Amino acid sequence: MKKLVVITGAGKGIGKALAQGFAAEGFSLALCSRTEADLQQLKQELTSAHPEIEVYIRPTDVSKKAEVLAFAEMVTEAGNPVEVLINNAGVFIPGQIHQEEEGALEKQIETNLYSAYYLPRALLPPMVEAKRGHVFNICSTASITAYTNGGSYCISKFAMLGMSKVLREEMKPHNIRVTSILPGATLTNSWAGSDLPESRFMPPEDVAEVVLNAYRLSERTVVEEILMRPQLGDIG
Ligand code: NAP
Repeated sequence: MKKLVVITGAGKGIGKALAQGFAAEGFSLALCSRTEADLQQLKQELTSAHPEIEVYIRPTDVSKKAEVLAFAEMVTEAGNPVEVLINNAGVFIPGQIHQEEEGALEKQIETNLYSAYYLPRALLPPMVEAKRGHVFNICSTASITAYTNGGSYCISKFAMLGMSKVLREEMKPHNIRVTSILPGATLTNSWAGSDLPESRFMPPEDVAEVVLNAYRLSERTVVEEILMRPQLGDIG
């Protein structure tokens, strides 16, 4: 039975690039996002390119605890040992704290932070027992930078990095690696509507590549944080 890589928000963008990257390495995958058509299409693409792998999908709104737990149950029932868990699903609602729409804080905290708390809680126990695995948390440069148009997104991502650091400490004795990824502007749907040229953004495949590289290192080494930005710097 092939080892499993679990990815939230895998239908598009960085999550999709991660799924493609790990599939090419021969891992089976458990993927979720809200849009079932994206998941079906990706499953079809991955299983035709890599017929040896299994791809489990479940439409899931990770801002809802019950749905995160149902996704975790699907993963557990699949029976493959979880090798890598990637908390990637996230939503970016630009705005300022004093002006952003009502509920922006709750939506981004529930989607970006709580999901990345509930899923490891559900999936880590067997990994701890097996003393094996790697958790990646897709944070952001907004985890360490107070952007004026970042509003509650920054709040959620600062908190996510804090949580990721705590998990790293907790998992040390259990031989489970925890890595926080802090990407800057990456060309995905998050930037739909922007009129900036492609050259101002990193490709999502580069984020996937640094995750794969961090995973490939010896088990005696953990890359704790990766900060990556477009070559031309932050979008101001
Ligand atoms: P994206 O292209 O918009 O893709 C986000 C993925 O997450 C989609 O598959 C989306 O699918 C899914 N998703 C969104 N809300 C969800 C929910 N409530 N439940 C389940 N799935 C959900 O975004 P991205 O840019 O790849 O972002 C991925 C992660 O990277 C996020 O955590 C984001 O904060 C982080 N990040 C992005 C950038 C950037 O510049 N793009 C920079 C730093 C960090 P559905 O809509 O179908 O659910």
